[in-house]
Formats: sequence, C-alpha cells, structure tokens
Amino acid sequence: MIKKLFQRVFRKPAPIRVEGKCRIIPFDVHGVGSDGISPAARRVTDGLQAAGYKAFVVGGAVRDLLLGRHPKDFDIATDATPEDVRRVFRRSRIIGRRFRLVHVMFGEEVVETSTFRRMIEAEDAQTDEHGRLLRDNEFGDQEQDAARRDFTANALFYDPATQEIFDYHDGYADIRANTLRMIGDPAVRYREDPVRMLRAVRLSAKLGMQLDAATAAPISGMKELLGNVPQARLLDEMLKLLLSGHAAECVKKLRAMDLHHGLLPMLDVILEQPMGEKFVMLALENTDQRIREDKSVSPAFLFAALLWHEVLSDWKAQQDAGERPVAALHTAMGAVLDRQRAQLAIPHRHDAIMKEIWLAQPRFEQRGGQRPLRLLAQPRFRAAYDFLLLRCESGEVEAELGLWWDEFQDAPDERRAEMLQPDEAPKKRRRRKKPGTAGTPAAADQPDEAVQIALPIG
Ligand code: ATP
Ligand code: MG
Repeated sequence: MIKKLFQRVFRKPAPIRVEGKCRIIPFDVHGVGSDGISPAARRVTDGLQAAGYKAFVVGGAVRDLLLGRHPKDFDIATDATPEDVRRVFRRSRIIGRRFRLVHVMFGEEVVETSTFRRMIEAEDAQTDEHGRLLRDNEFGDQEQDAARRDFTANALFYDPATQEIFDYHDGYADIRANTLRMIGDPAVRYREDPVRMLRAVRLSAKLGMQLDAATAAPISGMKELLGNVPQARLLDEMLKLLLSGHAAECVKKLRAMDLHHGLLPMLDVILEQPMGEKFVMLALENTDQRIREDKSVSPAFLFAALLWHEVLSDWKAQQDAGERPVAALHTAMGAVLDRQRAQLAIPHRHDAIMKEIWLAQPRFEQRGGQRPLRLLAQPRFRAAYDFLLLRCESGEVEAELGLWWDEFQDAPDERRAEMLQPDEAPKKRRRRKKPGTAGTPAAADQPDEAVQIALPIG
C-alpha cells in the first residue's frame, strides 16, 4: 500500500514524445484531466474511436482548459467523413454547405464535429483579387488540420481517452508563455482571411494573452483588407467581440491598433467625441459586467448604445432645422441606421428594439400627469431605463433624473402621486372624432409639444 503510494508520488513523469512534427504531451506534463471534457463531447470521441476513427477535442476548448478557464463549447475533429459520423451517431445531422459539419445531439448539448481539413495550396487556391481565400473546404489529415488553424494555441488536439495533447506548432509552449502566435507567416494568413486580425484582438483581450510581436506587426498595414470581408462575417465577428465579456478592452485594443475605422457603429466618429467615448465605454463596461455575472445582454441594446451619440447629434441638427422634436427624432434614427447600414449592416430585426429604447429617452423627461405611468407600462421599459442610467452616468443628463425613476418605479401609489410633477405640458388639442373612427392612444403618449429636448447638459 505504502509502496504503491510511494511509486505513484515518486514515479518518473511520462516524457513528451515526438512523432514527426508532432509533440505528444502527456497528462503528467500538462495536467488537464478528461473530467474537464463535457460528457457529450466525451461520448462523441469515445463513439468515433470505438468505430475505428481518430477523434479529438480541438481548438478553443483545449486552449481554455490549459489556461484554467471554462470552455464555452467542445468541438471535435476527426478523420471520419461527415457521412461516417452520421452512421456512428443516430441523433446527428450534417449542416453547412461551404464546409459540411456534423451536429451530434445528446439531450440539450450539441457537439460540433468536423472532419480534418487542409489548407488549399497556393496554386490551387481560389482567392479574391486581394488574396482572400474563397474556399478552404478540402478534407485533409490531422497535421494539415493543425496547419490551417489560426493561432498555435488554437491548434492543439486533446484525446480524452489517453489524456494526451497533440501539438504540431508549439502551441503548448506558447500557452505557457501566455503568447498568442499566428501559425505560419502572419501577413500571408491575414491576407487569406482578414478576420484573423479581429480574432487576434478579441482572443488576446479575452484570454489576457499577449500578441506575439511578429503576429501583431503586419496588422496596422493590412487593416484595409477588412473592407473586402463579407458583411455578415464581419458582423458575426464584431458581435463575438462585443459579447466576449471583454468588449471594453477589445475596443481599446482595436483603437490602439487603428482597426476601428469603418467597423462597427461609426466607432471612429463616436470615439472622437469625449461625451460619445465616455458613453460607449460605459455601455461596454456595463455589458462586460453583465456577461461576467451570467446575465442576459441584448445585441439591440448594445447597438442602440453604440449609435446613441450619432442619433443625438442628428436629432439636434433636425431640430435646429425646424423639425418638431419627436418627428426630428424619427428622422435622426432613420438617417443614422441608414448610414450605419452602408458600413456594417446591423440586422433589421434589431431595429424595433433600438428605436423603442431611443424613443423612450425623451419620455423620461416627462414627469407629470399619466405619462410616467404609461412609460412604466411599456414592455421595453427596463431596457430603456438601463439606457437612461448610462446616460446619467456618462454626464449627458442630470443624475437626478435617474434617481427619480429609480424611486418612482418601485414606489407605492401614494408616493408616486407625491412625486409626479405638475402637468405643465400643453394639453394636446383633441380633434373631434369623426363618428366611427378610433383614437390613436399611442400618439398621445408622445405629444410633440411635451418633449423636452434631452440634449447633453453643460
Ligand atoms: P471562442 O472561445 O471565442 O469560441 P475559438 O478559438 O474556439 O474561441 P471559434 O470561432 O469557436 O473560436 O473557432 C474554433 C477553432 O477554429 C479555433 O480555435 C481555430 O482553431 C479555428 N478557427 C476559427 N476561425 C479561424 C480562422 N479565421 N482561421 C483559421 N482558423 C480558425
Ligand atoms: Mg469556440
């Protein structure tokens, strides 16, 4: 018994083996146990291996486990073709046209399983006129699959059965040195896929890893290439960045690397105005905080915040040109969304919520009559109120307004009655209804004359 314990404690750790270009790192060296792998991912690797295939956990999950972080999801890489995977797991389906993946379902969990792929050699590759790869969907072997990945830290394969890590690009050493390094020639890899520049910023901010100097160096000279990336892909990456839990840090880095031009919500314009910058950074910090606390965040709220100072300045311009406040706000919202769409298309499905949040802002200033109660009853009140608090915190409107609403929303009826201010807004002239026509109560909630213009104080 004691002898066994002795042997276990003092036995020689298993050494790192080298096979061809691959270093095989044993559990004794890296210390990541297979209990860190989700049960569903484990069932996929076990099932494929039992059927005679190679199967590994790969990419972000291995990296996160080595960094002591909780992986978001577990992706599997295998030498089985999508059809082979389908045959092994009945509850699975092949998805994707460009590159076919298999989703294997276990209860709630979906495990993305992809066949090893290779990077297409330069002479066979289809690229656009700037060198961006248009196709990278050829099957390959494990070594080729490692080489087509972006960073060395993202190219590790973990076998849950043996608890070994397969490392073709010294990713293990880079993770231990806290360095994010591009595989291959960084300039070539950014040209193939410019989104890798944004991934470099996002992953280094999110993981607290430093960008290797050679990986960072080409970025400022190549940023224009982001202009050729399809909009949907860019938006996808920007959303990942904004919802990473480290959005404030990411945006600071984007700015430091001069990558923020022409990207999200006119970031370059907004960040040049001190008030705009303060508001955007507060909104991002607030989002990061919510994500860290596992609270929900809505992309629409974030987009509304990013564009708010643009809306404000357009709104003011429209009113200066003689438009009435509410009409001017509608015009400004439309103009800002159109301009933004020309750069990076925020999906239309977010428009309604963004507009509701913006339209509620002047209504917070109306503290007389039934108006506060009507605003409180709006389904989007909570988001609009959170938005108001950010405006107060950034110094755009008086803090007192936020405090008033903070108290009012939870106050008992008697206190609310005390708090309501005298209704000074001119009564809307009621048009006599024609017999048989219904009134429009929604319009009465936003009488033009009652809107005090909520433009920056001071
Ligand atoms: P996250 O934790 O944010 O999901 P991730 O590294 O897992 O980070 P994914 O977008 O889920 O990012 O990608 C999974 C893996 O696919 C990466 O780890 C990387 O190996 C590879 N990959 C993703 N995007 C690219 C790219 N643009 N070029 C090369 N390889 C990529
Ligand atoms: Mg991932």
